[in-house]
Amino acid sequence: MIPVIALVGRPNVGKSTLFNQLTRSRDALVANLSGLTRDRKYGEARLGSRPFVVIDTGGISGDESGIEAQMAGQSLLAIEESDAVLFLVDAREGLNAADEALARHLRQRNKAFHVVVNKIDGLNEEVAVGDFYALGVERLFAIAASHGRGVRQMVDELLAGF
Ligand code: GDP
Ligand code: MG
Repeated sequence: MIPVIALVGRPNVGKSTLFNQLTRSRDALVANLSGLTRDRKYGEARLGSRPFVVIDTGGISGDESGIEAQMAGQSLLAIEESDAVLFLVDAREGLNAADEALARHLRQRNKAFHVVVNKIDGLNEEVAVGDFYALGVERLFAIAASHGRGVRQMVDELLAGF
């Protein structure tokens, strides 16, 4: 089984940067796996000899008014065809209402997700992640996608679950 990992979160939290870091490409390679729809951005990634697929999504703004429609679109499809959901948040902005709305919606869909606190470069990691425990998860990953910091460890831990 090749695990499929979806990246979700508000615009600008760093989903595409993480996608590029994981696939090491500027352009997504389209994974040739049956059953995956092609209107989202798929990339093949590898950790050591372990392949996995990453799905980038356009982002959900988290505005209460628009969130249903957005969740019903590509992000929801990505979530549903994934084995694991990485919910990215921005350490520089801190926790906001849109993140909380998104977490509620993911819970309503009964989809397990991991919170990934991105952009921790130059920040005190413990302070930076502290806020986000309010999202109600036990395990948070802290990364700097643009530097690759924390990324390998996170993927290692994720893949160990499959
Ligand atoms: P997306 O909308 O969620 O796909 O976000 P992008 O990947 O396009 O990134 C949005 C902005 O955040 C860009 O200017 C990135 O360079 C920046 N960014 C992404 N990851 C990091 C990070 O780890 N540290 C910092 N400082 N900036 C980052
Ligand atoms: Mg993007």
